[in-house]
Amino acid sequence: MNIVILSRNAGLYSTDRLVEEAENRGHKVEVIDPLKCDIIIEKEKPTIYYKDRYLDYVDAVIPRIGASVTFYGCAVVRQFEMMGVFTTVTSDSILRSRDKLKSLQRLSKRGIGMPKTVFTNYSRDVEEVIDHVGGAPVIIKLLEGTQGLGVVLAETKNAAESVLEAFNGLQARVIVQEFIKEAKGADLRALVVDGQVVGAMKRQGKEGEFRSNLHRGGSAKIIKLSEAELRLAMNASRALKLPVCGVDMLQSERGPLLLEVNSTPGLEGIEKATGKNIAKSIITYLERNSNA
Ligand code: ADP
Repeated sequence: MNIVILSRNAGLYSTDRLVEEAENRGHKVEVIDPLKCDIIIEKEKPTIYYKDRYLDYVDAVIPRIGASVTFYGCAVVRQFEMMGVFTTVTSDSILRSRDKLKSLQRLSKRGIGMPKTVFTNYSRDVEEVIDHVGGAPVIIKLLEGTQGLGVVLAETKNAAESVLEAFNGLQARVIVQEFIKEAKGADLRALVVDGQVVGAMKRQGKEGEFRSNLHRGGSAKIIKLSEAELRLAMNASRALKLPVCGVDMLQSERGPLLLEVNSTPGLEGIEKATGKNIAKSIITYLERNSNA
């Protein structure tokens, strides 16, 4: 197969591992920066021009589109789809998953547990918003945040009001969420490939930190998921039509609660914590599904 990894940085662990496993299995693989692709739209002849050639020989793509290049990156993925090329995740699913609010709305309809969440456009209503999620402490999240940036724990009603007022003043869109105290600064990440969980880890925030993101200094270890956790991860992948994704959940007294679904999950943390070859699972998924 001719495989393209759409990534801005060939030096990243995840990109590197996917190249390595694709080559191990005898495929030709290229890392292509989506921002350097020209999208050529013409009747019945959609193509992509990259550097000095047309990408008309590609059998499958693995999008690794960063949040800052979502628009252009997804346009390139969509063009590959128009050319009949198989992609691990579609442009529509990536776009859907980038919108935390839209994702939570869809997921709640599928019976997936999540922390109670409020989104409001009415900025003077702060007290009621906080009451909707059971009062302080509450979590306040920027809708566009990633890697734990823009996630705030407001311990008191006064703190929550100040934070909401500050975000409102900046015209930043936020959601207010019930704080799941019993998660104790930890969350679970399940890696889903082909709709099945292929690895899972528990991430623990550093001392005194409620956010467990590895980018914020958290640490990770392998974990065996419960039946309910496995089911939640697979349901979330199906609901957002993301056969390859990372599903983040919190462990709560009322069972697992979904935090978010990531369409470009990093492989370093999960491969190192679990010792599993996730990159290979992704390549064999391509082999089973592309037409090549
Ligand atoms: P990001 O997309 O920026 O990583 P998350 O929603 O995943 O944002 O939040 C970052 C971290 O903060 C999570 O991994 C989790 O540890 C913690 N966290 C987020 N929401 C809650 C919540 N409602 N209750 C308790 N902890 C939370």
